[in-house]
Amino acid sequence: MDPEKIGLEALDAQIHRELRFLNYPPDNWVKPVAGGGGEPVLDVAIIGGGMCGMAAAFGFMREGIRNFRVFDAGEDGFEGPWCTTARMKTLRSPKHLTGPNLGLPSLTFQAWYRAKWGDADWNALGYIPTETWMDYLRWYRHILEIPTENNVRLLRIKPEGELLRVYLCGPEGDFDLLVRSLVLATGRAAFGGTRLPEVFRNVPANYYAHTEDVIDFNRLSGKRLLVIGGAASAVDSAAAALENGAADVHLLMRAPEIPRLNKFKSTVYAGYFRGFSSLDDETRWRFLHHGLGSRVAAPRLSMLRLKEFDNFHIHTGVDVKDAYVKEGQVHLAAGQESFAGDFLVLGTGYAIDIRQQPELADFADKVRLWRDCFTPPEDVANEELGRFPYLGPAFEFLEKEGGTAPYLNRIHLFNAATTLSHAAVSSDIPGVNIGAERLVNALAVQFFKEAAGQHLQNFYDYSDPELLGDEWREEE
Ligand SMILES: Cc1cc2nc3c(=O)[nH]c(=O)nc-3n(C[C@H](O)[C@H](O)[C@H](O)COP(=O)(O)OP(=O)(O)OC[C@H]3O[C@@H](n4cnc5c(N)ncnc54)[C@H](O)[C@@H]3O)c2cc1C
Repeated sequence: MDPEKIGLEALDAQIHRELRFLNYPPDNWVKPVAGGGGEPVLDVAIIGGGMCGMAAAFGFMREGIRNFRVFDAGEDGFEGPWCTTARMKTLRSPKHLTGPNLGLPSLTFQAWYRAKWGDADWNALGYIPTETWMDYLRWYRHILEIPTENNVRLLRIKPEGELLRVYLCGPEGDFDLLVRSLVLATGRAAFGGTRLPEVFRNVPANYYAHTEDVIDFNRLSGKRLLVIGGAASAVDSAAAALENGAADVHLLMRAPEIPRLNKFKSTVYAGYFRGFSSLDDETRWRFLHHGLGSRVAAPRLSMLRLKEFDNFHIHTGVDVKDAYVKEGQVHLAAGQESFAGDFLVLGTGYAIDIRQQPELADFADKVRLWRDCFTPPEDVANEELGRFPYLGPAFEFLEKEGGTAPYLNRIHLFNAATTLSHAAVSSDIPGVNIGAERLVNALAVQFFKEAAGQHLQNFYDYSDPELLGDEWREEE
């Protein structure tokens, strides 16, 4: 009998015991606030029930911040990219990733995997299959009873006095809520959507897809595909197309040669995740400028997937200058070279442009961006980095101009666009525990301080006797 293959039932029981030992969940201690006419107010609305949203939710429950709700636009069990738009067979990260365990060994991916499949399977496992990772996240949600409400999308945010009113759309129609703090755990494409370079804007929508779209590669069987980009999403899309019977695939990348490094791999350590946000602006900028400028290589396993296909071709140094459709074919012109195919897949990444993010657009011009407060030295000039949000220590938006939009500090951005302010602690798996801890601590402090007067009054009023008066003998 494999000693670690205890089965999920036993692991679940173990976790319940551990949580009991931690007195989980503690009572809610946050003083409620009411809106006009006594309307109830949510202390926290978490938008996004993927890994980051769930880690934050568990963190809030552990701290006794219980008046929160979690909303996700996706189907139950299909939050995030893993079983929707991700096309890699395995995660890039090594299997020893601990996942959003917030310090509990039994909540790690490894504990779950060993319990379910046993030691031998764990030892034999190379990388984590993408769907297995999603299964782990589903289990995480189930065992911690994360109260995610699915198929609910955040549409708008409006200030209302000291609070925020959020407008959502769910299975029963539109509704709105008053909230004190809003956590946007909305994933990678949520600070401006996907990046659609100007040159491709003339291509009709039925001739192209972005790698962030759900693509039916079966439908593209027998077709000739042009894929733009050299990073993971482009490479995995090319592989998915070939495995689904594409006639041929040409991968076109601007890089002069195939990128081989993933610089950010060297930043996976606690010091970086904990310390990055306290660095001066120029040092933070230099890290990101160098990391992004070096181009992130596709994972080795993704590249190997392509190797067996004779009908796959890589072209480097291709800077597309013109793109159009003629006689049912997509044509791309790049200097002396030209390419034609039936369908175009754009692995062009994500935009950083707050004005393009629907729920943020109303106050986009009031949010402080890096370019509003930092001018980089010439050797590291970078227009795109300037468009990243300049966030405060609790991931909160700051005002571009003091006093013009004080409500912004109630909106906590907990997605990939925080990277320049906080490092990848609210996007990639290795940093998520540190990110969730930082967010939850900051909100606990804020809620306590906001009601400091009430807490002080409670302290004055406290009158539960410790001693009952019968613990000593009266002197005669
Ligand atoms: C293809 C791919 C592969 C990756 N592989 C790795 C890897 O190997 N290792 C690693 O460390 N990281 C990896 N990452 C990066 C990162 O771990 C993932 O992006 C991860 O999913 C981030 O979790 P998240 O909770 O921030 O975002 P997500 O998992 O994307 O969750 C965000 C959720 O927000 C919801 N949402 C968005 N907008 C709204 C709205 N307006 N209203 C309601 N809900 C909304 C979405 O439905 C989604 O479920 C990968 C990313 C991608 C895209």
